[in-house]
Amino acid sequence: MQRIEHIYINGEFVTPHGEEWFDLHNPSTEEVIGQVRLGDAQDAQRAIAAAKAALPAWSCTTREERLAALRRMHKAVAAREDQLMEAIVMEYGAPLVRGRWMATYPADVIAQAIDTLEAFAFEEQVGTARVVLTPVGVAGLITPWNSNAGFICNKLATALAAGCTAVIKPSEMSAMQTQIVIEALHEAGLPPGVFNIVNGRGEVVGEEIAHHPDIAKISFTGSSAVGQHLVSAGAATMKRVTLELGGKSPTVVLDDADFAAIMPFVLQAGFANSGQACIAGTRILVPRHRLAEFEQAVQEAVPHIKSGDPRDTDTAIGPMVSAKQWERVQNYIRIGVEEGARLLAGGEGRPDGLQAGWFVKPTVFTDATNQMRIAREEIFGPVLTIIPYDDEADAITIANDTRYGLSALVLGQDLDRCERVARRIDSGRVLVNTLAHEPRAPFGGFKHSGLGREMGRWGMNAYLEPKTLLMGQG
Ligand code: NAD
Repeated sequence: MQRIEHIYINGEFVTPHGEEWFDLHNPSTEEVIGQVRLGDAQDAQRAIAAAKAALPAWSCTTREERLAALRRMHKAVAAREDQLMEAIVMEYGAPLVRGRWMATYPADVIAQAIDTLEAFAFEEQVGTARVVLTPVGVAGLITPWNSNAGFICNKLATALAAGCTAVIKPSEMSAMQTQIVIEALHEAGLPPGVFNIVNGRGEVVGEEIAHHPDIAKISFTGSSAVGQHLVSAGAATMKRVTLELGGKSPTVVLDDADFAAIMPFVLQAGFANSGQACIAGTRILVPRHRLAEFEQAVQEAVPHIKSGDPRDTDTAIGPMVSAKQWERVQNYIRIGVEEGARLLAGGEGRPDGLQAGWFVKPTVFTDATNQMRIAREEIFGPVLTIIPYDDEADAITIANDTRYGLSALVLGQDLDRCERVARRIDSGRVLVNTLAHEPRAPFGGFKHSGLGREMGRWGMNAYLEPKTLLMGQG
């Protein structure tokens, strides 16, 4: 059993003032596998003070100095890929292929921040003015459990590249991954206080960050409810806020699509990260006149998708992260049945043969309407909803009839038509016949899916304030 006792403040592992111990579980067995000691408001204040003290020197570092620090971070994090992989499978339950991606992503995003910094223009001549992009100040970075190490590294690398210092409040449920990341970052030998990491509860450490006057900017990934709260909590101190929130992303299947060819895209988009993905394509819009044919293709494909032990090489869907998350998903499956949607695959309870672990059957509802709760609310588990549509205009209307707008997928053979539909979907990202990711492009959401963007130069800009400099004669 692992006991994680320290947090990281001012370049040192320190014992928190907070005394609460929080249990860490293996979601595949439900067993307690570790404990983490949580920091409290006082610990958050110490971390913020350290970041504030480190800001004047760090914000004046040159591009080359920041690049050198980021390269050391990259090397140290990349060296821990296998250790991270083990923690991700054990503590989060990611299946092996997904787990490997999640273990390489933290180093990859640091490399991407390096690329962005190398090419970034911090100054620009605009008419008679020089516009100088200056670091916004101390950044508060708050991450969720569904890709904790990756989000820590992405937010931190970008903040540091911009010249900000940071206080990180990682997900309390991902402390093993956080510990590995802290050890790597410590080894990278950055100046003390430049980054600080405080394990703790959202309503304790998170709240302190959300209200503290010395935090200039918040970058948050998590639920829309907490994101909205952070905007109002930060208003009193006029914090800049970047939010990456939830989604109810549409997968629009056009009527010329070859169902056999697109089915892997449809199911991977929906079940990625065991369904615990903000970008998951959970609303599948299908032409009404081909609905029966599509349903048959789904019924043939889903039995080949295994939900079970993440260490089995043929597992595609691992357990839900917690008992609470498992209950939430079960509840939505009940709601779908009560609302009158028809179960095409899966349903309540664990997959056959599994007695323990927070496992869910890959579940697909059909004949749903876009007004049902299973079509409107984010479930955050492997539960998909097929909604029939009448024509292209109807498909676009349904795709946009949601409070969210993070990602969308359009599938069809006529590329001009696919692009026409893609351009009319209100979403931060629209994929056409691909699930590829482009890290140099902005990532973020319309409407309740977020505020602002991460990644590439858009991500960097979010940690910078433009300063207009007009010079007269000497
Ligand atoms: P959550 O919002 O409950 O928690 C996210 C983080 O915020 C955690 O570190 C938590 O401790 C902290 N937090 C909670 N209350 C807080 C408060 N009052 N003040 C400050 N911090 C607080 O979300 P979760 O359950 O950890 O993650 C699942 C949600 O995150 C899903 O809704 C999902 O859509 C969303 N998500 C979005 C993205 C994205 O990129 N858009 C990525 C992953 C997850």
